[in-house]
Amino acid sequence: MKNNFKVIGFDADDTLWINESYYRETEEAFFKLLSQFCDRDTASAVLLKQEVMNLNLYGYGAKGFCLSMLETALTVSEQRVQADTIGEIINLGKELINKPLVLLDGVVETLDYLKGKNIRLIVATKGDLLDQERKLGNSGIEKYFHHIEIMSEKKEENYRNLLSSIDLRPEEFLMIGNSLKSDVLPVLEIGGYGIHVPYHTTWQHEVVDDFTDHSRYLELKKITEIMGVI
Ligand SMILES: [Mg+2]
Repeated sequence: MKNNFKVIGFDADDTLWINESYYRETEEAFFKLLSQFCDRDTASAVLLKQEVMNLNLYGYGAKGFCLSMLETALTVSEQRVQADTIGEIINLGKELINKPLVLLDGVVETLDYLKGKNIRLIVATKGDLLDQERKLGNSGIEKYFHHIEIMSEKKEENYRNLLSSIDLRPEEFLMIGNSLKSDVLPVLEIGGYGIHVPYHTTWQHEVVDDFTDHSRYLELKKITEIMGVI
């Protein structure tokens, strides 16, 4: 892979810091609350369907997730869910938003290395604006980034807009992230470069299963391996 990029973009959730594991923990607690109405697999299927249906209305992130949990509780209980259970679900959502910010191993070391190479670094992430701003503020790594882009979607058009707003040609841009679907494929599609660093857990909606190799793409096991490539 070439290594004279002007700008490197980092996804945030599950690329720079832990995120998906917190959602999985919250879901398990939520499924327990619903066990009076249905089994775990049913609750899980209804929740995923509700989340995907709500994406257009609420976008990505914790607040939309909370609303999807509430709607799921209404559905599986056939509108019989008690107010105290609703209260517990809302608390689960607040706990999710207040989980500690934990950087993934090697992130600071990698950012230090890239900064030393004089490459401009940016964050390009989906999620709630306030939630992502809070996480970045708590992360201690905000100082490494020239620009933070909180995107409503990560499709080709969104990346095209991002690059034109920072005056960059696609071939000058490398995007690094844990989601093939959101961080890599659309960037390859518009002529940029992509590095996939998988996280051990992937939200089902982000899973892609028909990806063939690409000359502007690389998969790494750990974020620190970027230092051997760039
Ligand atoms: Mg991510």
